[in-house]
Amino acid sequence: MTKRVVLIGHPVSHSLSGAMQQAAFDSLGIDARYERWDRPPIGLADAVAELRSDEFLGANVTIPHKERVVPLVDRLTEDAHATGAVNTLTREGKRLVGHNTDVPGFRHALDSLVGRQKMPRQAVVFGAGGGGRAVINGLITAGFLRIIVFNRHLHRAEGLVKFFGKSAAHMELKAMPWHESIIEAELAKTRILVNATSIGLHGDESPIPAEIIPADLLVLDLIYRRTRLLRDAAANGCTVTDGATMLLHQGAAAFSLWTGQPAPLEVMEQALTAARAGGIESAEGEPTGAIADA
Ligand code: NDP
Repeated sequence: MTKRVVLIGHPVSHSLSGAMQQAAFDSLGIDARYERWDRPPIGLADAVAELRSDEFLGANVTIPHKERVVPLVDRLTEDAHATGAVNTLTREGKRLVGHNTDVPGFRHALDSLVGRQKMPRQAVVFGAGGGGRAVINGLITAGFLRIIVFNRHLHRAEGLVKFFGKSAAHMELKAMPWHESIIEAELAKTRILVNATSIGLHGDESPIPAEIIPADLLVLDLIYRRTRLLRDAAANGCTVTDGATMLLHQGAAAFSLWTGQPAPLEVMEQALTAARAGGIESAEGEPTGAIADA
């Protein structure tokens, strides 16, 4: 019987995970099919309930469900528990396990951004959703000592800070209101900026004006393309990375969880590149490469 793996999100139409995961299944001769399920929040519980049957190997969960899915599973792994968000599901019989492979995915992206330099200790993070939580977890466990979180709705960033209270007890983790002057002052004091909002996912918008981006920042945008933020930052002299590395490595970790086999990284990377190029060809007149994370 062909096994099924699904991506649950809303929307899911821009996702590249299908191309990446299907290529991985096919290259290792695994009889499995990756499907996309577009489900609004009201349909999430029913979608998750369906996954308990034998035909499913598991699932990916993406925007905007990563936090909402937490109470719907039977067990959380350490990364998922510590993050309060789930992006991958596996089955143990009829029980569902929630994992967070965004955390190791982010760590790969962070390492590639920092390169041979010493790992910095200060960061500014935009966004407090599921992706933002993986970033905060990754930064805390990488030894960061000061992290400032800005979010459109301040209460969500405050909730995130409260959630990480214990694991951040030894350092400074603060939520601040989204005001340009406050952001500018914080950017002047930091080494790393991570954009974990979806600003720039669909249009050519940046969360901040180019003028307030200092020249020597390391900038990571979780969005998988060269966003306006990255272009502005690079033009100002910053080192920049997009979400491709994180996407690849969260996908590779999910693949291993579903199949018990090491992920064929090269095959997955090639499939991602090809899907991205194909998207550009077929999406004539639309913004190119506007891609969700899973
Ligand atoms: P969520 O829906 O959980 O959170 C969305 C975040 O974006 C919130 O902080 C939200 O702020 C903010 N936001 C959305 N629209 C606006 C807007 N118009 N103005 C200001 N803020 C806005 O999504 P995720 O955290 O799962 O994903 C966020 C982004 O990160 C997406 O672009 C996703 O593709 C990317 N991502 C990439 C990954 C990768 O592997 N490369 C992995 C994970 C995420 P508010 O709370 O105020 O609504």
